Amino acid sequence: MTAIPNTEEAAAAELEHLAAEIGRHNRLYHGDDAPEISDADYDALVRRNNAIEAAYPNLVRKDSPSQQVGAAPAGHLAKVAHARPMTSLDNAFSDEDVEEFVARVRRFLRLSDAADVALTAEPKIDGLSCSLRYENRRLVQALTRGDGTTGEDVTANVRTIADIPADLPNGVPEIFEVRGEVYMAKADFAGLNQRLADEAAAAGKEPRQFANPRNAAAGSLRQKDAAITASRPLRFLAHGWGEVSSLPGETQYEVVTALRQWGFPVADDFVRVSSALEALSQYRQIEAQRADLPFDIDGVVYKVDRLDLQERLGFVARAPRWAIAHKFPAERAQTTLNDIDVQVGRTGKLTPVAKLEPVTVGGVVVRNATLHNADEIARLGVRPGDRVVLQRAGDVIPQIVENLTRDAERPEWHFPTHCPECGSEAVREPGEVDWRCSGGLVCPAQAIERLRHFASRHALDIEGLGITNIENFYADGLIARPADIFRITEEQLLTRERWAEISARNLVAAIDAKRQPPLDRFLFALGIRHIGEVTARDLARRWQSWPAFRNMVQTGIDARDAMLQAIGESDDKHLSRTAKELATVVDTKQVGPEVALALIDFFAEERNDAAIADLLTEVTPADVVHETRASEVSGKTVVFTGTLETMSRDEAKAQAEALGAKVSGSVSGKTDLVVAGPGAGSKAKKAADLGVKVIDEAGWQAIVAAAS
Ligand code: ZN
Repeated sequence: MTAIPNTEEAAAAELEHLAAEIGRHNRLYHGDDAPEISDADYDALVRRNNAIEAAYPNLVRKDSPSQQVGAAPAGHLAKVAHARPMTSLDNAFSDEDVEEFVARVRRFLRLSDAADVALTAEPKIDGLSCSLRYENRRLVQALTRGDGTTGEDVTANVRTIADIPADLPNGVPEIFEVRGEVYMAKADFAGLNQRLADEAAAAGKEPRQFANPRNAAAGSLRQKDAAITASRPLRFLAHGWGEVSSLPGETQYEVVTALRQWGFPVADDFVRVSSALEALSQYRQIEAQRADLPFDIDGVVYKVDRLDLQERLGFVARAPRWAIAHKFPAERAQTTLNDIDVQVGRTGKLTPVAKLEPVTVGGVVVRNATLHNADEIARLGVRPGDRVVLQRAGDVIPQIVENLTRDAERPEWHFPTHCPECGSEAVREPGEVDWRCSGGLVCPAQAIERLRHFASRHALDIEGLGITNIENFYADGLIARPADIFRITEEQLLTRERWAEISARNLVAAIDAKRQPPLDRFLFALGIRHIGEVTARDLARRWQSWPAFRNMVQTGIDARDAMLQAIGESDDKHLSRTAKELATVVDTKQVGPEVALALIDFFAEERNDAAIADLLTEVTPADVVHETRASEVSGKTVVFTGTLETMSRDEAKAQAEALGAKVSGSVSGKTDLVVAGPGAGSKAKKAADLGVKVIDEAGWQAIVAAAS
């Protein structure tokens, strides 16, 4: 916690802020049933307030949260004063807090340190507190807690709850207020949200969904129209009493047992313990069952069992000295890890995801949690079947923080050696934690991204084959891999919606124009990890032709296979050695071990290799043209202007450079040749003025053809 302010001014300012902030959250929570912050965060604000007040007791405000219980009741329901205030409980957050609570009770009662203080312990259910008043054994009034002094009249609503008896058996005292929680079971909460969603969908409206079971219970009970309450699956659990004409016992345990006999549901885990130690053991037991209980609980409540002692202990501020709520740690829950699913991202990254037995954490039902990567799985030692501790922090994806059964005899879980989507080999770089699918060209998880990349401007640059067409064609099964692009026919396109003859013909022509891509573009288009445009050009210049490049790759694959036999090294060391070895095989300036490994891994995956072989039946990568090759334009300066129709400006520039020409962006006296497409404006005019030779695209292609 941040340090307590060291001046009165700072303390007063913070207390003012806390009072306003906590008050606002109270209204959101009680009035609107729409909390903005988690219970844990709320508790932290209250603790902060109390800590500052403890340091500066003279600064305690009239409107301090420590002087209030809940928020003033909101809205349309009639307000009625409680016959006896409905207090809230102080909280304990640690074992020490509980021990201190018992010690405080002993000190207050002047009991010896050795004296047993019997307590009751029961799960603290996360619901809406309610007081049910029975007169002459008939239910006459039901009030919410409201601000503790005044509640809302929910009598008609409460009468619709099956757990709450309308009449009590003979022998029940004349006046008896039963107090407890109206709640919604987890399963009923899920069912209600589903029903609300279905109804909204049927009516064409935005569905209203409750954030958690407690809000659902509060929203359902506090209805003006009790018929709506009747349609909601509400339950009740009794845990105490308010005004009574007499009591059916001398201890908390006896009276609650009587409530059970009168027909009120009482927590199954309601027990009596004789010490703080036993209380804590009960807490652990309840905490372990928490996830499996049919309702949400947020802690365990301990009460001094003897009612005469409760009487002597009385109240401090507005909380009883004889009871405390031991809260569970924030936003954590236990559940069973049913399975580990490995998901493949669009770029091939493999991410392990824990499939969980559904559990409510911080009011939200969680079914999946991230396990990040293989290292995290190894750290936790998790295997399907393990009990795990799940943590949810704000909107962050829930994660597993602890494995409770790591010593159980169950086989270790191994990260898959192959991609679950396509069966390609999973690979990893030295020092990296992530595994990746190496089957870039065949993996369905990566297909759309790879096809988009293949056709993109700096790869094969297929005009008209953008992401929308790729997504549609892929969805319909027209294309799955790069080779399929070259098999698209005009007839196929014309059967599709919104395709006219001209657009179909244009796309097929644009595809056909790319059947002899430059080697560097072809290599870049394959989408091999770490092979960007520059590296692809370096590789193309070094190996010059596809056959030569592919021969080198084969040498690399053989070297890699041989190195895989090596033993006695750690994975990372071994990978690093292999990568270094492969860099010597690739033998290209600027291509280091990491890139060489990615390149060889890619081709070593037979599925990729097969996809490329298939692609090569459609396209033939063009050999790299020697820069020294003589041509009509060698040593000359060329300017391209206007719209080029058969190639991109990038390609034209590369062709010119390959022929030994220099490409310039502007026409000047030094310009030797201008290649002008349609729409060439001022540059073509200037060239004419300067007497520079101007040719069209076909003329340029003739020069290129003559040189090769
Ligand atoms: Zn894959």
